[in-house]
Amino acid sequence: MASYYNENTVLWLDGKIVKASETKTDLYGQSLHYGYAVFEGIRSYQTATGETRIFKPVEHYDRLKRSAEALNLPYTYSSQELTLATYEILKRNNLQDAYIRPIVYAPANMSFNPNTESYTAIQVWEMAPFLGEKLLKVMTSSFQRPNPKGFKITAKASGHYVNSILASQEAKARGYDEALLTDINGYIAEGPGANVFFEKGGRFFTPATGNILPGITRATVFELCAELGIPVEEGSFTPHDLRRADAAFFCGTAAEVVGWTSYDDKPFPTRWEDTLSRKVQQAYKDLVIEKAKQDQKKHQLETI
Ligand code: PMP
Repeated sequence: MASYYNENTVLWLDGKIVKASETKTDLYGQSLHYGYAVFEGIRSYQTATGETRIFKPVEHYDRLKRSAEALNLPYTYSSQELTLATYEILKRNNLQDAYIRPIVYAPANMSFNPNTESYTAIQVWEMAPFLGEKLLKVMTSSFQRPNPKGFKITAKASGHYVNSILASQEAKARGYDEALLTDINGYIAEGPGANVFFEKGGRFFTPATGNILPGITRATVFELCAELGIPVEEGSFTPHDLRRADAAFFCGTAAEVVGWTSYDDKPFPTRWEDTLSRKVQQAYKDLVIEKAKQDQKKHQLETI
């Protein structure tokens, strides 16, 4: 198992900075028993100029709030407060390139009744930025994403991730790197923890909202495509459409932008290096490390 903390690690727990090794969870907790909690996945990067920058923290904490509200979990903090707390906890753990995991969870409560209080924790651990050119072998999962009429699927709720775990474990057991799940109508939806785009004839296609968690990275890809002049179409697409694409990628906070080598054993015809997807991958990497700011600074220095 991965090691997320050691005896020196500290985390943020409702305004206090405490040692990770000294915290405990309640075995009578409603969150543990029913998956009734909400969380976020955020990243920080050492920028090109050496600073620590959390990528889109307010967007993530705003989503955490919306997720808590969707599940009727009491939520008390502002996104600004939690952003400051996150910078503090990164500093205390001496981390720059990190994964940040805030979670809002319920107290001891074996009933289905709502709670008058909740707890909020922010954990951080080291995560190097994705540098490799590894491409993924992806298969269509036998599992579908949860029915939007059965869950608040735009909330990042802990319990939804049983579906993700089933799909990911199935794909890995069959020798693939990752799964792609369809929605209840059989259209492609998303990966266990990332959104999907595919490229065909100079255009990008991605599932419309309604059956997916609309990712912050997905929104960032839209922004980058607008800058790069790549048209993006949202809609309902089948696994068959995706199998006929030139290229495809997953995008998410943890995954960043990661290309695929094959889908359902069918290799993509275009070399990854020659795709527009690769351009977006590079633009995303540059964005998260604020490379443009470094270039601007360099330019300013050169023109002085
Ligand atoms: N879909 C699912 C199911 C996810 O868990 C994630 C990761 N949060 C995403 C998409 C991508 O979201 P984001 O870009 O906000 O990390």
